Amino acid sequence: MLFVPLCFVGCGQKEESLNSYEIQAVYDTENGHGLFCKQKVGYYNRSDNCLKEIDFHLYPNAFREGAKAKVVSSANESKAYPNGKSYGKVEIRGVTITDLVSGYSVGGVDENILIVNLSKDLYPDEFVEIEMEYYVTLPNINHRFGYGANTINFGNFYPIACVYENGKGFVQDLYHSNGDPFYSESANYKVEITYPSNMTLASTGDIKNESKDEKLGKTTVITANNVRDFAFVLSDKFSVKSQSVDGIMVNYFYYSDSDPDASLLVAVKAMKTFNNLFGKYPYASINVAEANFVHGGMEYPNLVLISDDIASHQDYEYVIVHELAHQWWYGVVGNNEYINGWQDEGLTEYSTALFYEHNKEYGLELESIMKNINKNYKLFVDVYTSVNGQLDTSMNRRLDEYSTEPEYVNCTYTKGAIMFDTLRQTVGDNKFYKALKTYYKTFMYKTPTAVEFIDCMSRATGYRLDAFFESWLNGSAAIL
Ligand SMILES: [Zn+2]
Repeated sequence: MLFVPLCFVGCGQKEESLNSYEIQAVYDTENGHGLFCKQKVGYYNRSDNCLKEIDFHLYPNAFREGAKAKVVSSANESKAYPNGKSYGKVEIRGVTITDLVSGYSVGGVDENILIVNLSKDLYPDEFVEIEMEYYVTLPNINHRFGYGANTINFGNFYPIACVYENGKGFVQDLYHSNGDPFYSESANYKVEITYPSNMTLASTGDIKNESKDEKLGKTTVITANNVRDFAFVLSDKFSVKSQSVDGIMVNYFYYSDSDPDASLLVAVKAMKTFNNLFGKYPYASINVAEANFVHGGMEYPNLVLISDDIASHQDYEYVIVHELAHQWWYGVVGNNEYINGWQDEGLTEYSTALFYEHNKEYGLELESIMKNINKNYKLFVDVYTSVNGQLDTSMNRRLDEYSTEPEYVNCTYTKGAIMFDTLRQTVGDNKFYKALKTYYKTFMYKTPTAVEFIDCMSRATGYRLDAFFESWLNGSAAIL
């Protein structure tokens, strides 16, 4: 088959030349929870350097036996592995040798990187097509990559290009149990998935075609343009409810939700609220899927997973709102989640509070949410200070520099939300919302750095906010 890049060839604009992924995935019914995959990547060199290789993350290898990376904290292990330890991985079965591609190897510090060698330098603005075959084995784990009793979650399952930064090279950060250890750029996808007919699929993107074959099962063809990742979930238990809002189809996939209408409604209201507050969600659909998941929820472009193990329906709805806010902060506007978790998580947590401020029927006032968040943060500070004698509350740390998961969560989400609330009080509502709208519009589909974020906020509000953010990020701001 001729590979036609799904991007804007010939437009001459470096930043508009998106990478493209064409994936054919066949669910391995013989062998249980595996996936045969063929993948074609159209890679544009948008850097200022000549490239001799293209590097890809192999996130599934963090789940393999003997991996250095930990995929869950020790505290969450029994919840994540209800049937005992289980392993998964991705085996690269071949990369096609062409005029431009000379070979490949699996390397990195933990077999976490696929290195595709080029036979000649790829100059800035040049394009290379890479074809590969691989087999994905899912572990039995309630995680973003793994299968549980109810859902089969394919998050971060395929080789995705590492972000290339001028002066630094390919960013190869290793998987970590803290937060979402991901960093990727917007790309165009065409994915064909073949799976058993009794299963229902929820995924990134829009379904273009669906066919059934008695022997092979169902095949769904999906396209997704300008998204920074592709993920899907399969289940033989899913029921689906849908409702349209502002021209966006909201689909809710569930199996044990006691009040699915309420869940769909809160998702619809969240999309409407965030459209109004930050700017319009630019895709045709959003899929919310109940899933086996060790944490509360997980965001992917056009797809969010919500844990089926959340204590109350009110909390379940809160998680739906939080994950949907990520469509704006992480999805459309990206960031390096490994080094600046606050940039998406802090803003997302505060956006969740804003949702409740604008939807008073839920009975959660902004004031009471922020009071609670402040209380939690102070409790964390007190406990950690008394146990360790000192406390690092800086937020500008890499994921692997937080000593515990609670430390990461409290510094990134909790303190992050307090920081954004303080920013709002400092600059006033008009400038605050103007700044968020400007940030959204300016960096749509991009991955702004923390400096670009602060600069954008400063320009949009008319205040120099460097010192404000600096004191919050480096841990010197006093929280009263
Ligand atoms: Zn989040």
